[in-house]
Order: sequence, then C-alpha cells, then structure tokens
Amino acid sequence: MQLIVATRNAHKTREIAQIFGSASAVRDLTAHPKISEITESGTSFEENAKLKAIAVSRELPGLIIADDSGLEVNALGGAPGIQSARYAGVNASNTERIAKLLRRLANVDPKGDQRRARFRCVLAIARDGHVLAIFEGVVDGKIAERPRGSHGFGYDPIFIPDGFEETFAELPEEVKNNISHRAKAIRKLQAKLPTLCGET
Ligand code: IMP
Repeated sequence: MQLIVATRNAHKTREIAQIFGSASAVRDLTAHPKISEITESGTSFEENAKLKAIAVSRELPGLIIADDSGLEVNALGGAPGIQSARYAGVNASNTERIAKLLRRLANVDPKGDQRRARFRCVLAIARDGHVLAIFEGVVDGKIAERPRGSHGFGYDPIFIPDGFEETFAELPEEVKNNISHRAKAIRKLQAKLPTLCGET
C-alpha cells in the first residue's frame, strides 16, 4: 500500500516508514516541490494536522497522512506544544530550542512534577480534500537536566520516557518507534486502515 505523508521533515518520514513496516510504501513531499508550505494556523495539533492533510489531498491522489506533533511541559503550562518547531524562532536550530527550554526549567525542582512532560502526535488521514479520520498518541515522561544522545530528532535528547533512564536520543530507534506518541497514533490508524481504504 502507498501512503503519502504531508511533510518535508525527513526524520518524521523515516520514523513513520519504520513504524508502518515494509508492507507499506511511505513517501513524503520530497518528490513534489511544487506543493507549497502549509501554514500551521490552527490552535491545536488536530486543527493543524487537518489543515495539512486537506491541503495536500487536494493536490495529490490517494491517502494522505499529516502528522502534527510536539512536546508539552508541565512547568511551561503545556508549552511549547503546537509551537514546538518554532519555539526559539522560525530559523532556530534544535540545539537552540533545547537550550531555551532548559533555561526556562533552570529553577524547577528536578524531583517535583514540574519537569514532567509528554509528546503528543495527532494524525489526520484525508483523501480528495476530506478528512477521513483522526488519531492521537501520547507518551509521558520527564525533561532531562541536560541533552543526552544522538538518535532521533527535535527534543529527543532531553525527553526521558517513563520506564527508562535514557533519553529518546539515547535509546535505540526500535525502542522509540515502539513506545512513542507517533507509534501509538500510527497503530490506531493501522487498525482502521482496511476500513478507510474501502471508503470511496
Ligand atoms: P510539526 O508537527 O511539523 O509542527 O513540528 C513538530 C515539532 O515538534 C518538531 O519539529 C520537533 O521539534 C517536535 N517533535 C515532534 N515529535 C517529536 C519527536 O518524536 N521527537 C522530538 N521532537 C519532536
């Protein structure tokens, strides 16, 4: 089965392809440079995922999946949330985003629940400009005191999932891709895929 993911983020595409497994051919927008950047103007992960899925499914045939995701930190009232990619400005690097977040948590008690955090992923699946379904996945954990590890992307070096001592960037990819917010959302989508494929 061929699925197109409405992203140009190669890290996301790679994770999504690994989670789906070899039975599905997962492609992203790399081969479609004419499709313009979709402004994430929504006020929730769900709204942004829908915006991306609808826009791309108007341009390309077949099933289109959009992932909107981010990190929610207790001490920051759920920020950076939907602003995760732009937390330190649109052109900032992952290192700068992580540095800003750790500065904000500098005085937070490492033992309290203020360093608790979660990654959230909302997937929208659409065809011909219509959303067919929405799926959500969450992984709970806490923010590390300093970045550790080199796997993954984004905030992985500072996120320690519950049940582990290592950050997502230290854990093997297969472990992250088994327990992550994205894996949970994709498993829900996979369970519904046969029904969704039958819809016209
Ligand atoms: P968007 O979904 O493209 O708006 O951006 C999501 C942003 O959230 C990414 O650029 C990362 O900064 C962050 N993010 C989402 N999922 C992950 C993840 O699995 N690991 C680390 N950071 C993530």
